[in-house]
Order: sequence, then C-alpha cells, then structure tokens
Amino acid sequence: MTEAMLGFIGLGNMGGPMAVNLAAAGNALICYDASGTAERAPDGAQHASSAAEVAEKAAIVFLCLPDGPIANKVAGELMAAPARIVEVVVDNTTSGAGEARATHDMLAEAGIAYADAPVSGGASGARAGTLAMMVATSDALYTRLEPLLLPMAKNARHVGREPGQGMAMKLLNNFLSGMAMAATSEAIAFGARQGLDMATIIDTVSVSSGTNTAITDKFPKRILSESFDSGFATRLMTKDLQLYVDSCKQLDAPRRLSETLLEQVWGQMLVDMPASDFTEIYPFTLTRDK
Ligand code: NAD
Repeated sequence: MTEAMLGFIGLGNMGGPMAVNLAAAGNALICYDASGTAERAPDGAQHASSAAEVAEKAAIVFLCLPDGPIANKVAGELMAAPARIVEVVVDNTTSGAGEARATHDMLAEAGIAYADAPVSGGASGARAGTLAMMVATSDALYTRLEPLLLPMAKNARHVGREPGQGMAMKLLNNFLSGMAMAATSEAIAFGARQGLDMATIIDTVSVSSGTNTAITDKFPKRILSESFDSGFATRLMTKDLQLYVDSCKQLDAPRRLSETLLEQVWGQMLVDMPASDFTEIYPFTLTRDK
C-alpha cells in the first residue's frame, strides 16, 4: 500500500538511507534536512525548504532527528504550518519516553496522531532495510503504517499502545548495547594482556556463553579492522544512556550498572573523544586503562 505523498525530515546517517528505502518501495516523498536537503534526499524525492512545507504536502511525516528536543521543535513547526495537511507524525528519533509523551500530547491538541518508532540496527541496517523499529501507537494506526515501515525496518514491532513505550524499549536496548560494548572492550583488553589474539577471542567467545552483539558484529566488522565506522556517534550513545538513567531515576528503577556505565565509561569518553564513533570505545578503554 502507498500513501499519496509521505514526508521525511532528518536525512542523516539513519534517516538518509531509511528515506531511500521508503522511496524504493514506490512511495512519493517530500524531504527536508536543515543541513541541506538536495544532497541528502533520495533520487526523485521533492525537496522542501522547511518543515512547514512538508506539513503542507504530506499527510504522514517521518522524523529522524538527533534528539527529543529537536523532534519536539520540528513537530511544533509541522503543527504551525498555515495550510497543513499532516495528520500523522511517525517519530524515528531516539527521545526519552517523557519527551515522546510531550510531543504526542502537543500534536493531539492539533488533531495530529503520533507514533513513537525509534530504530536499532545502525547505518548498515538502515541501508539494508533490516532495522528493528519499536513502535508505540494504536492498533489502527499501526495497521495503517506497517506497510510503510517494513521497507525500512524488516524487524518492525508493535511494542505498545501508550506514547513513549517505543522509546522505553529503545532505551533499554541501548543500555544493553552500550554495556556489551564496554564490557567486551575490557574483556578483550584483558585477553590482549594475556597474549591472546583479538580475532581468536572474537571467534571463540562468539560460540561461547559470553557472546553478545559487540562480539558478533561491532568487534569483527568495525574494531578488528580499525575502521571505526558504525555511523553511531559517541554523543548519541551517551545521550541515550543519559535518557535511560534519567528515566530510571524518575521511576525509581534499578540503575546501579547503568549509572556506572554512564559516569565511568560513555560520559568520560564523550569528554575525551567528543567527535568519535561509538566503536572507538576499544581504543578509549586501552588508553584509560593505562
Ligand atoms: P545524524 O546526526 O546523522 O542525522 C540527523 C539529521 O537531522 C542531520 O542530517 C541534521 O542536519 C538533521 N537535522 C537536525 N536538526 C534539524 C531540524 N531542526 N530540521 C531538519 N533537520 C534537522 O543522526 P543519526 O545517526 O541519523 O541519528 C538520528 C536518530 O536516530 C538519533 O535520535 C539517534 O539517536 C538515532 N539512532 C541512530 C543510530 C545510528 O547508528 N546512527 C542507530 C539507531 C538510532
């Protein structure tokens, strides 16, 4: 099923290839990115000069923006568009659950439906269309959206009906991912001190009980090769973990490991290596280890 014209705002590492897959599935798109639309939009897509212009031409608008405050601001610009036809906003940004609820409530006052739908799988998953997408919205809206989501996210899941539940799922996932990266870096640094070869550690642990996504994906593809090119910035990993810890505090949920991970690892790495890819955690761990 295709919708008349879809909007896509935020064409970065994730949004750029997601928009390409949405267009490749036969959907007409109008796109906007504040850093320059023409060089980021898929071939054949219309280029808007503002979020408001997208709101005036598309009934369903996807957002894939750096963080919740920016997504909320852009949602406000969609609402304020004088001749808007937008009726649904699908937010692929990773925001906090509270930020997603705030955006939902703001849009609801203008009669615009909202689905929080953050993604996991990195830039390579975005290019391949194999992302996981964690969608929270009504059953009816999920049914309408699913054919649009699947070309971008083969692993789309309807995780809940309450706004913010998709974001909560994403944040708990990224806590686990950030922990796997940090723990695996320490374990491999230990192995190296014992004279074990990194490739051998990866090969062995990947078929043993310590296996995780860092061992099966990030280390063999991005760290062993020293390409450090996952496309997921340390600043975004740290943002996600901060949101997770903040939510834990609000809910008085257990957070001993996540607070330590934020303060001792990712927060420190952001200070030392502010422009790094998150796979640079291994050289960061080696440096901090000395
Ligand atoms: P990015 O920084 O590469 O892209 C964000 C894009 O938004 C940029 O092109 C920027 O110019 C644009 N933008 C910023 N403000 C804007 C505005 N006001 N109006 C229009 N465009 C604006 O980020 P990304 O890596 O694509 O991540 C996007 C979201 O997806 C983030 O919330 C991130 O946490 C999440 N995410 C990223 C990854 C990853 O591996 N990169 C994986 C899963 C989820």
